[in-house]
Amino acid sequence: MEYVIIGNGVAGISAAESIRQLDADGNITMIGDESGLPYCRPMISMVLEGTATPNQLPIRKAKFYDTLNIAPIFGERVTNIDVGSRTVQVGTAQSVAYDRLLIATGADPRPINAQNQELKNISYMRTSLHVANMLQSLAGTKDALVLGGGLVGFKAAYGLLRRGLKVTMLIGSGYPLSLQVDQTAGQMILKELVAQGLEVKVGVEVTAFEGQDKVEAAQISDGSKIACDMVVIGKGVLPALSFVPRDHIEVDLGIMVNAHMQTSNPHVYAAGDVAEYIDVARNSRWVNAIWPEAVSQGRIAGINMAGRPVAYAGSLSRNVIRIFDLDVLTGGLVTPPHENGYEVMSAMHAGRNTYRKMVFCDQRLVGFTMVNDIEQGGVLMALMHHQIPLNIPKEALLDTRFNFKQVMTHGAWAASPKAA
Ligand SMILES: Cc1cc2nc3c(=O)[nH]c(=O)nc-3n(C[C@H](O)[C@H](O)[C@H](O)COP(=O)(O)OP(=O)(O)OC[C@H]3O[C@@H](n4cnc5c(N)ncnc54)[C@H](O)[C@@H]3O)c2cc1C
Repeated sequence: MEYVIIGNGVAGISAAESIRQLDADGNITMIGDESGLPYCRPMISMVLEGTATPNQLPIRKAKFYDTLNIAPIFGERVTNIDVGSRTVQVGTAQSVAYDRLLIATGADPRPINAQNQELKNISYMRTSLHVANMLQSLAGTKDALVLGGGLVGFKAAYGLLRRGLKVTMLIGSGYPLSLQVDQTAGQMILKELVAQGLEVKVGVEVTAFEGQDKVEAAQISDGSKIACDMVVIGKGVLPALSFVPRDHIEVDLGIMVNAHMQTSNPHVYAAGDVAEYIDVARNSRWVNAIWPEAVSQGRIAGINMAGRPVAYAGSLSRNVIRIFDLDVLTGGLVTPPHENGYEVMSAMHAGRNTYRKMVFCDQRLVGFTMVNDIEQGGVLMALMHHQIPLNIPKEALLDTRFNFKQVMTHGAWAASPKAA
């Protein structure tokens, strides 16, 4: 059996390990365009802020590929898949044959439409190399401009603030992390960031950058100009699938997979940020581009590729973030649409600076936001993930004393269809 995995991120690595556990003899080839060891991508922002060092990033040792008898082709991009001859094209010269192919190519930063992006000190923040380059240009840098208030934009702004730069963030929505948190939590985060010196402009875009060699200023859509000597573009991500033949492999936003992580072509699988499957809270297709889902999906894909049919239960968005003095934990559908009968309950304790919001659909918890006092987040995640109908009053979940024992005592778990 010839297994080929495109992508040396955590989804690809998890798949390779699962395959090797079940198939000692098959040939595994991994192709990745980043050279170097696989690393913890979320931690690159900690390297930027100075709370982690680059040598803490790798998630496997150098002997990993030898130990698992994997043939690596790194520093090369896959440019095409020929599903007829079952080969992938690597660069311009090499083609690699497969029996089972996994696409685990993650995501690319969403590009922006602004002139002069080639100026120095304008960067995305997706790879460890991006952060290494940003750190190199930190000396002599004073004014950073961060485009986008999503997870990456927010982490870049936070890191640069902690490095002592003056940071201005441009965001389309009224508050940062608008996909991760609701408006109330977003405003609490914004207040905390502004208190730490962040400047925020909302509802504007950059139209062009100015500078000789390095960036010196950005022209803004409202006609104003912002002086800056570093720019980070963090306007979200898009599944990295430009090389995927859409006439043979079905693509929506991400590559569409079934519960076995198999695409519309039975020899081809997809996992991680590039894949789209059912989101448990939304009960519809969604790309949840987060680390824990990439690990699970990679494992499930690998097991299925090796011939053991195992179904994936579906994905669930979640995030835990520390912002100076705020702990923020979110999961599932945080801001539900007005229709479809969602029920929303929230509680704010201004004195303790805590906030909770729960979103229910019938008797099920389908989303939550918590600011500070986040300890019971694991219980809430489990309630959502296993779709356990609640048979305790919903208000109980707003109470910071809510705990696992309460759920057990009132039998919510016993009522679970999965537990039956
Ligand atoms: C700054 C930052 C902060 C984050 N913070 C969090 C967080 O707090 N919590 C969380 O859960 N997630 C976070 N994430 C997201 C998380 O890192 C991703 O969900 C996870 O890395 C996805 O893993 P993956 O294996 O699917 O893709 P990737 O990690 O993107 O790996 C895919 C690999 O494939 C390579 N590749 C792409 N195209 C090709 C090609 N054509 N040929 C060859 N190789 C190719 C890529 O270069 C990459 O090396 C963060 C991401 C970033 C950038």
